[in-house]
Amino acid sequence: MVVNEKVKLAITVASLVAATILLAAEYRRRRRRKQTSSPSSCYLHSDMKPQFGFKRVLADNSYSGFKHLKKKKLEDGGEKPSNSHPYESEITVLLESPRLDEFEFLRGEYSLEMSGSYVWVETESELKKLAETLAKEKVFAVDTEQHSLRSFLGFTALIQISTQEEDFLVDTIALHDVMSILRPVFSNPDICKVFHGADNDVIWLQRDFHIYVVNMFDTAKACEVLAKPQRSLAYLLESVCGVSTNKLLQREDWRQRPLSEEMVRYARTDAHYLLYIADSMTAELKQLGIEDSSSTDDKFSFLLEASRRSNMICLQLYTKETEDFPGNAAASSLIYRHLNGHEDNSSISLDPKFQELVRELCAWRDLMARIHDESTRYVLSDQAVIALASNQPTTPEQIHDSISQADSASESAVITSHLDDVHQLTQHKLGKLDVILPLVLDKCLGTEGTCPISVFNYSLLINFNTKLTTNRSTPKRRNNLKRFTRKTSRDLFVKKFSCKAPVYHNCRIYANDGRLLCYCDRRKLEWYMSRGLAKLVEEDPLAIMLLFEPKGRPEDEGNDFYIQSKKNICVGCGEGDHYLRYRIIPSCYRVHFPEHLKSHRSHDIVLLCVDCHEVAHAAAERYKKEVAKEFGIPLFVRRVLDSVECESSAGGDSEDAGVSPLHLRTAAMALLRHGNRMPSSRREELLQTVKMYYGGREISEEDLEKALLIGMSPHERRKLERKKGVTVSVKQENSNNGSVEEHSEEAPPGGDMNGESSVVGDDSGGDGAPELNDTQCNGNILHQQNSKLSLLGHGPHGKQVVEYLLKEYGEDGVRDFCQRWRKVFVDALHPRHLPGGWDVTHSGRRDFGEFSVYNPTKKVSTG
Ligand code: AMP
Ligand code: ZN
Ligand code: MN
Repeated sequence: MVVNEKVKLAITVASLVAATILLAAEYRRRRRRKQTSSPSSCYLHSDMKPQFGFKRVLADNSYSGFKHLKKKKLEDGGEKPSNSHPYESEITVLLESPRLDEFEFLRGEYSLEMSGSYVWVETESELKKLAETLAKEKVFAVDTEQHSLRSFLGFTALIQISTQEEDFLVDTIALHDVMSILRPVFSNPDICKVFHGADNDVIWLQRDFHIYVVNMFDTAKACEVLAKPQRSLAYLLESVCGVSTNKLLQREDWRQRPLSEEMVRYARTDAHYLLYIADSMTAELKQLGIEDSSSTDDKFSFLLEASRRSNMICLQLYTKETEDFPGNAAASSLIYRHLNGHEDNSSISLDPKFQELVRELCAWRDLMARIHDESTRYVLSDQAVIALASNQPTTPEQIHDSISQADSASESAVITSHLDDVHQLTQHKLGKLDVILPLVLDKCLGTEGTCPISVFNYSLLINFNTKLTTNRSTPKRRNNLKRFTRKTSRDLFVKKFSCKAPVYHNCRIYANDGRLLCYCDRRKLEWYMSRGLAKLVEEDPLAIMLLFEPKGRPEDEGNDFYIQSKKNICVGCGEGDHYLRYRIIPSCYRVHFPEHLKSHRSHDIVLLCVDCHEVAHAAAERYKKEVAKEFGIPLFVRRVLDSVECESSAGGDSEDAGVSPLHLRTAAMALLRHGNRMPSSRREELLQTVKMYYGGREISEEDLEKALLIGMSPHERRKLERKKGVTVSVKQENSNNGSVEEHSEEAPPGGDMNGESSVVGDDSGGDGAPELNDTQCNGNILHQQNSKLSLLGHGPHGKQVVEYLLKEYGEDGVRDFCQRWRKVFVDALHPRHLPGGWDVTHSGRRDFGEFSVYNPTKKVSTG
């Protein structure tokens, strides 16, 4: 964005906000008065759009700019400008010394024909497998399809990838949140990606997935260099491969599932033949070079030119369009086109009311499209805007008529459910242009808003609220708004993390003598059934009977708990609308338990609503500190001091004696980088932090470098060691302040430090519903996505505590420890809805027979 525009936009936003504060209250007053007439309800409450399943979006519908991927580590240790291309240097290298002549697009035998089979990729594990396959290739072909009508910015609905052997269709709707798995192969300069006309694809991949293409061959660019009569893919398919394709299908609704046979064929065709076409065109380019050149030096010149032009495309960056006032660009062009189209420059077009209404309708349409995640053309077509501005209808019926006459498509759901607004706009009852937007925003998403809040529109609201705090609003109003933002955060949090389906299916397993063994989820039943170890005895609710003799019976072991049916409600307060899993024994300890003690999980994982979750979590965090004190094992990593050092160091073993690894690393990094340039007081402060870690002794440069490694995952550490020298930039603490965009950076797959994310498959589960780990608590909702934090968690502390317990007291020590946690939980929450049989002194002694799902040796086969 040009600076100038930025300023303008900032001023616009600021004044909008000021106006809002004054008008929101006024609006509410008015609304309260007329509420009896028609409490409008938004269509989105019943219209489920596929993108509402996305857990995070990189490009949301707010008016703020797009944030590109930031590569964490830079060679020179410096920060890159915030919105530059993360792979600029890699692409520049390719531009300066193209490597296209290294790549062969086809090898060995190749059959041009498209086989009957293809691979549909829709699960995370399938996607990982695809990434592994692609990592082994030297070249692959890519095309994407996007959907744009029912989305404000559009989204990628399908990615087609073809290798010489296979065609893959990647369901990017189902896999939206995990598409980062493909980032490495796309940015790998050793793999050449073949596209046709990649300009849009490159931008869409950045916008939706932070995927950046490095090393590309674009067959459309080859067409340019070869001066082919046409440059379309259809032409190349026809002339090079003798294949025809129906390009009309590109306008299909690519969200639909399953795709029709015809769409599958079309999608595959767009990628399948590209390797063959690239092969044939590079041959032509080389041939042309040889014919055209006198020296052998430039016989590759045409090929290199095609490569250079291709990689230039990769340098393009996605940006969100900005304008000085919402809808302004569209309004101006509409007015201009309308005036030019009218021979007689009719009185209507010159009417200032007409122009004003066009601007108002365009602004309203822009904001409504953002709020509901629809395209502006879906909300209200250009023709309909002109019709409304010309006719200036006065009744709802006249509005319907104007729109339906102008539009070939039927009136959008946005209009139907928000007709009130249009009515007031055409009657000029909403006020002037500059107050319309804040009013509408408040009406839709405000405290008594009519429309659902989503990841697409949440930051519209946030931006609007943070600006308020800098404004001259009264403290009371500010507090109201803050409370409101907190509430919406909570709602979003509930939506994001609460279980999507009932956790307990309450299916039953009987022994072959008809005695009830346990209640469990459907997946567990299916596990036994699919292996022929059980037979179905009841359909609804499902029940099976084991065909083998189970080892022990619950009653015999005093484990009544397992034969209780469990309710899908918060065990704290009984709330049944939403719930999340809560682990009574914190993961940092439990992951280190011996396997057989870990396996009886359903007892110690309960359902809690967000509020009870927060209470329980806070109590657990407090108790962790007590454990740390009692065992003398600090919560954060600290170098193990030898006893001499320990005694000579000032402090005792208080809980604070440890230094958090993040503080330590930040301090060490700053000292190494700017040590001699920083003010001495600051330097002293940082030195204290590092010294505390080393037990108070003087420290050397080497100590500082070692300190950088503390709290890193083995992976990070290896990477740093490979580099040697101090070139690692440490992620700044607190860089996150809660805006939705801030957590768009994806966490690395699987935090390996304390293994929390590796805990899978407990016996209460089965719906794949998310759980929160220790760092994901309600208090700090919005930046909890980054499981990086868990690298800095209490993993090492937990490990030491459990090791100590096992050494000193054996397994009984672990059992006692569990009981203490159950007591902490009960004391904090006084849960009133714990299932019958739940018991603080639950033994956890449960043996697993040869055929049990929980038999550790069987684990592998359950996946
Ligand atoms: P293609 O790779 O040619 O199939 O086009 C990729 C995507 O671009 C399609 O999924 C459409 O979303 C979009 N697109 C391309 N051309 C058009 C068009 N003429 N009209 C509408 N959408 C188009
Ligand atoms: Zn709405
Ligand atoms: Mn296509």
